[in-house]
Amino acid sequence: MTYELIIIGGGIQGVATAYELAKRRAGKILLLEKTILTGGSTGSCAAGIRAQFGSEFNVRLMARSLEIFEHMDEELGYTKEYLELWQGGYLVLAYSGKEFEGLKRNAEVQHRFGLDTAILSPEEVERDFPRVNIDGVVGATYHSRDGHADPFRVTFAYAEAARKLGVEIREWTPVSEILVQNGKVRGVKLQDGSEEYSDRVLVTAGAWSTALLKTAGIDLPLWGEKHEILITEPWERVLGPMVISFSRGFYIQQRPHGSFIMGLPPVNPEHWYEPEEFDFSSSMDFLMRMTKEATHVLPFLQGVNIVRQWAGLYEMTPDHHHAIGPVDEVEGLWVAAGGSGHGFMFGPAMAEQLSKWMSGNSMDIDLTPLAPGRFKKGALVVEPAVVG
Ligand SMILES: Cc1cc2nc3c(=O)[nH]c(=O)nc-3n(C[C@H](O)[C@H](O)[C@H](O)COP(=O)(O)OP(=O)(O)OC[C@H]3O[C@@H](n4cnc5c(N)ncnc54)[C@H](O)[C@@H]3O)c2cc1C
Repeated sequence: MTYELIIIGGGIQGVATAYELAKRRAGKILLLEKTILTGGSTGSCAAGIRAQFGSEFNVRLMARSLEIFEHMDEELGYTKEYLELWQGGYLVLAYSGKEFEGLKRNAEVQHRFGLDTAILSPEEVERDFPRVNIDGVVGATYHSRDGHADPFRVTFAYAEAARKLGVEIREWTPVSEILVQNGKVRGVKLQDGSEEYSDRVLVTAGAWSTALLKTAGIDLPLWGEKHEILITEPWERVLGPMVISFSRGFYIQQRPHGSFIMGLPPVNPEHWYEPEEFDFSSSMDFLMRMTKEATHVLPFLQGVNIVRQWAGLYEMTPDHHHAIGPVDEVEGLWVAAGGSGHGFMFGPAMAEQLSKWMSGNSMDIDLTPLAPGRFKKGALVVEPAVVG
């Protein structure tokens, strides 16, 4: 069968884009997922959502993503409770004067786009968030509409809505090769040897995108980087905001049901380009560093038991931004991957804008600076506010 579009990868990016394109009547769409929907980074993530970025571009995109999350219940037909959308804010702590100045500069950009990010002294942090240990804290910023959601339920909700609009989704269907003929994409070859045809293919395979694109002769500087994370037993609800520090790298949130989820970046990050290299093992080193950091920032956590730890991949690019748009070398081949440690939160806005781009409509937020060709041209996009 021939499709108008084949999407490879069923994480937030692939599924949300399938939905947005189906909404714009983009024709027959087939989405192929190697394992289950959310089987990649989306299912490993903390699903934090924040508009507290530093570049105009990211602040605009995240302001739009926040709006989409806030209306997702009406859009997809699931309640906010089901999606576990929790808007308790993000409290970003600064541990040096220089870092605080940077946060204040970021807040100025956020204010320009209508976000009411507050700039807090350590005393104000202590007053508003008495559970937070302000030892070493020089200042902070707080934006109340930030928060987190359930990455599984959000993705499944998009998938269900996409199916209702006619998108065909096949799980347990790995793609082994992107088929190219005379410089044009022709479809995909599946691991079982069969082929599916389309003159447009969108790769949303997260950290696996690099290997897939290589089968079409495309060299993309996108690599997987292991990040570890843990979850505790449920506890009484005491923590409203997601508490994070860019300089120390930690993030800690409390889920609506009471468990705490927290993570820290690796000390010596490795760059993995080939799926055979990916390592999802958990380490004692992470457990020790994480518990030390967490019980320092939130001392009450000393009384909370950890129930599970796991590892997932940030899909990294040289400037921590997505590679999104058509690939220069092969007509009809598109990519949307590389969200680094923030691909879940950007997913809805990226999907919306990308679907406008792919269906020939004008974008409200121009994504063309993120086209994959920028790496060869050295036109990197700089963002100061990233974790890890
Ligand atoms: C520990 C951790 C914490 C994080 N915390 C946050 C956070 O708080 N907020 C945030 O916004 N982001 C966070 N992230 C980042 C976020 O998870 C990712 O950026 C995002 O989920 C990427 O989504 P994606 O759809 O692009 O890729 P993925 O979710 O990786 O989806 C790609 C899919 O492609 C499939 N696939 C791969 N190869 C093939 C193939 N050959 N054929 C078919 N299918 C294939 C995979 O199985 C996978 O399901 C975190 C990540 C980690 C690891």
